[in-house]
Amino acid sequence: MLNIVLFGPPGAGKGTQSEKLIEKYGLLHISTGDLFRKHLGEGTELGKLAKSYMDNGNLVPDQVVIDMVDDRLKEVGEVKGIIFDGFPRTVAQAEALDTLMNGKNTPISGMIALEVEDEELRTRILERGKSSGRADDQSIEKINNRINVYKEETLPVADFYEKQGKFVSINGVGTIDGIFGDICAAIEQL
Ligand code: ADP
Repeated sequence: MLNIVLFGPPGAGKGTQSEKLIEKYGLLHISTGDLFRKHLGEGTELGKLAKSYMDNGNLVPDQVVIDMVDDRLKEVGEVKGIIFDGFPRTVAQAEALDTLMNGKNTPISGMIALEVEDEELRTRILERGKSSGRADDQSIEKINNRINVYKEETLPVADFYEKQGKFVSINGVGTIDGIFGDICAAIEQL
């Protein structure tokens, strides 16, 4: 199986590139942000719990996220592979994901990290906020908080995969197709 962690700060283009990867490689997409937004929309208990964290751009507690991913993985049948998008976002989540995937004998193949500098992220997210309807895309304070949370809590996840020899960095600034080409080249090397 080709199991990829698509990594990068908010606004790096993970969702956009995931769509293209799914189409090309026939992978299953697991986005924790999308799963939480689905729960929010349906008004489930999990959605209610996640809402205040998400609206303010803070991380939902690890165990809540891990249990949700564990449940989602249990529903997965025969697939060619999985793209994890927006997960893992902490080292504890990365360790839990390793345990889950190694336990199924389908380890993570590699992490692809999209690199984009802060100013470009702020511009992209504010632009997306005009149409996304997401509370966390609307204010510069919330966006800055998400970028700070990313640096403090999420960046160490890159080291976690680097130590396993599974980390690849890609420049996330350029055309969508150009970046996609670079990602595909990296995947062929995994
Ligand atoms: P982004 O555009 O910031 O990458 P996502 O759609 O991935 O946004 O996530 C939106 C919000 O959902 C996050 O700010 C966070 O509150 C919550 N969330 C998503 N994935 C996780 C995760 N793996 N751990 C904790 N919280 C998460």
